[in-house]
Amino acid sequence: MNIGFIGLGLMGRPMAANLLKAGFALSVFDLRKENAASLNGAAWSEEPAKNADVVLTSLPGPPEVEAVSERILNSARPGTAWLDLSTNSPEVVRRIYAKCKAKGIALLDAPVSGGPGGAASGRLAIWVGGDRDAYERCLPVLKALGDQPFYVGPIGAGSVAKLVHNASTFTVQTALAETFTLGVKAGVEPLALFQAIRHGASGRARTFDRLAEKFLPGTYDPAGFALKLAHKDVALALELAKSLGVPMPAGEHALAELSEAMRRGWGERDGRVAMVLQEERAKVSVRVPPEELKKVI
Ligand code: NAD
Repeated sequence: MNIGFIGLGLMGRPMAANLLKAGFALSVFDLRKENAASLNGAAWSEEPAKNADVVLTSLPGPPEVEAVSERILNSARPGTAWLDLSTNSPEVVRRIYAKCKAKGIALLDAPVSGGPGGAASGRLAIWVGGDRDAYERCLPVLKALGDQPFYVGPIGAGSVAKLVHNASTFTVQTALAETFTLGVKAGVEPLALFQAIRHGASGRARTFDRLAEKFLPGTYDPAGFALKLAHKDVALALELAKSLGVPMPAGEHALAELSEAMRRGWGERDGRVAMVLQEERAKVSVRVPPEELKKVI
């Protein structure tokens, strides 16, 4: 299988190296030719999509992928699959997908998660959107890049999954900055605080796994941890923050949600019932039948 690879940055270079290791014939391009220097065995090409069975791009973002798409559309032959490994906008990949389809090129959005370390070791999640048959065809390539390739759905679905993942990461990070500054300003040693709370209920759980307990099945009764207790705890934390002059905008938002849920009379229900408020606002129902959940966890 001939592979073209465009974008040999922090992520692209180790991924290209793994394709070489797996024995694929590789043509590569980057705006900076020196980025290909370590890729022994790869051929440098101004048009790596030409004669490729699979083209991969690992570019900074939407403008660069748009720019490179014109060259791929002009040089790739019908039947080529294109895996865009960049973190991209779902709208942009859908637009490019339509242009590609007209030329018989199958674009898959395939953003990755795992960082440069994961790209080098192959411990990489790859979230793929697009035509399933093209995904199946690309599986040998995807498996050479990462240990967790996953078909998410039609074009754009991979990018949505990636944006949800990273928005979750940095939203949680913002909240942790608040709560840790509170804890330390309240007089607890940062190392002791870290050691203590990493073994709490949230500390022991994998970030997304707890969604399967209440939110995804949509069952908030009986309570595991009642809303009235959650509300009391967050209110106490914000009181402490106020007394110490620690700003807590994310905490204020959380308390406002819990307070609204209390006003609805949900105090005895599980604290996570407040998540329903966001579903109402966003006008969407996030629901997975429990029997479907059981099959995947
Ligand atoms: P990077 O800036 O290191 O690499 C991008 C490469 O693309 C550079 O080598 C640049 O020269 C090249 N490039 C830019 N425009 C080009 C063009 N028109 N033609 C050819 N080459 C071009 O970025 P990165 O950290 O490798 O990230 C690549 C993508 O992967 C991004 O979309 C990023 O969001 C995503 N990502 C990064 C990480 C990470 O931890 N770095 C993790 C997961 C996903």
